Amino acid sequence: MTSFITLKEEILDLSLCASCGLCAAVCPQGLLAMNGDSVPLPVFQGMESQAADTCGSCNLCSEVCPGYDTGVMESERRIFGRNRSELERWTGIYLSTYQLSAADPEILGRAAAGGAATILAITALEENLADAVIVVGRDQERPWVPKAYLADSVDRIIECAQTSYCITPNLDLLKDGRYDKVGIIGVPCQIQGINKLLNLPEHLPSSMLADKVAFTIELGCASNTSLGGTEHLITEILGIDLADVVFMRYREGQYPGQFVVRTRQGQEHFLPFYRLVEEFKKFKTFRCLVCPDWWSGVADISISDGDPNIFDSSKAGVSAKASSTVMVRTRMGADLLALALRRNAVELVDYTFENNLGLERKRQRYRSYAAKGDRRIPLAPGRDMDYSQILSDDEVIRIGIGTEQGRATGQV
Ligand SMILES: Cc1cc2nc3c(=O)[nH]c(=O)nc-3n(C[C@H](O)[C@H](O)[C@H](O)COP(=O)(O)OP(=O)(O)OC[C@H]3O[C@@H](n4cnc5c(N)ncnc54)[C@H](O)[C@@H]3O)c2cc1C
Ligand code: SF4
Ligand code: SF4
Ligand code: SF4
Repeated sequence: MTSFITLKEEILDLSLCASCGLCAAVCPQGLLAMNGDSVPLPVFQGMESQAADTCGSCNLCSEVCPGYDTGVMESERRIFGRNRSELERWTGIYLSTYQLSAADPEILGRAAAGGAATILAITALEENLADAVIVVGRDQERPWVPKAYLADSVDRIIECAQTSYCITPNLDLLKDGRYDKVGIIGVPCQIQGINKLLNLPEHLPSSMLADKVAFTIELGCASNTSLGGTEHLITEILGIDLADVVFMRYREGQYPGQFVVRTRQGQEHFLPFYRLVEEFKKFKTFRCLVCPDWWSGVADISISDGDPNIFDSSKAGVSAKASSTVMVRTRMGADLLALALRRNAVELVDYTFENNLGLERKRQRYRSYAAKGDRRIPLAPGRDMDYSQILSDDEVIRIGIGTEQGRATGQV
């Protein structure tokens, strides 16, 4: 049987939902909506005459879902004509890699890292590559809650610069009928879902959504956090009543930035970034803990922090020049970056990507869940390199990447 029940039994009941929101966008009968829980999930909204087990039998919600089958192998064959090699397991296939910093100091100051995502989104909008870009900013009424927007102005894109370390179902916005060409900025699971949509045959109702996708930019993602994690920082660590919050950012100020909350009483409260990493550990979903990819490898451009270990930098109080690592994968990605360069919007330096603390944490976590083998976990795109030993998350954070100890053990 193919229906919402398939999605429920194979994804939702197994805690494999990544809360991307794409199933809600793609349902041709508009039967799904994301709920507003701390970890948002799709709920079936049909009337009795449209029961979840016979809702239309189209199965599109399951077809696009990246929860278990991320579709990366099929997407790679469509995009690159081949699958990644074993050496490319964690980077995916790419053309070139850079360190990028926005030329405009205001954008650099507003962004999480070097402002690559913001600059590329602005470039796409102003060069008419997209009518709007899906971004994530703050809810106007409750500033600690993330909210996805279809940004059709430069001001909105800049307002939504910076990272929201909070699970945000943004892809349901794709069903908004106002725009023909939509750019997407998202975490890897979201980009995997979009690519599964693009893999589907053209005669299906989903092709109307697929035709809208103008480009994809992904953020490297160690793991995301439930809204409960952010509320915990505000109420229990900083001792602030949520009703008093008028402003909140995860990475404000000098790179790599710190968690900032302003209250209606005019006070400003701070937490260094590394404290977020520590506190957020208790607020991870099973799907994020077993996630098989740090970058999906199937975005036009993939981005991460220029500093590969902002946990250590934040703990040591060290600040480098803010920059983003940018990995260009496709012709569209190369054209977009070339446009940004032509507009003198970016400073670009060639760079060889080696590793990132978030990537190493993910790699070791995935390996540990795969080794346990007691639950269904998402499919990985190919085999990992052999390791003699699997490190715990705390060990990876303690050893770091590229350190003497890490190199000596051959683990990181
Ligand atoms: C959950 C999560 C985990 C991450 N883990 C790592 C890591 O381990 N290592 C690493 O180097 N980098 C990680 N990143 C990426 C990093 O935090 C920066 O987002 C990235 O370097 C881009 O910086 P920038 O200055 O180029 O982006 P900016 O110019 O600041 O723009 C960021 C863009 O991302 C969008 N955005 C913000 N939050 C979200 C979200 N939750 N979902 C979808 N879109 C969003 C914003 O709307 C904005 O358009 C993570 C990001 C997220 C969301
Ligand atoms: S109608 Fe299709 S997409 Fe919508 S819930 Fe049913 S099976 Fe899923
Ligand atoms: S991962 Fe995305 S598509 Fe799959 S069930 Fe969750 S919200 Fe829907
Ligand atoms: S860890 Fe994986 S599932 Fe979780 S938000 Fe990041 S890419 Fe998505």
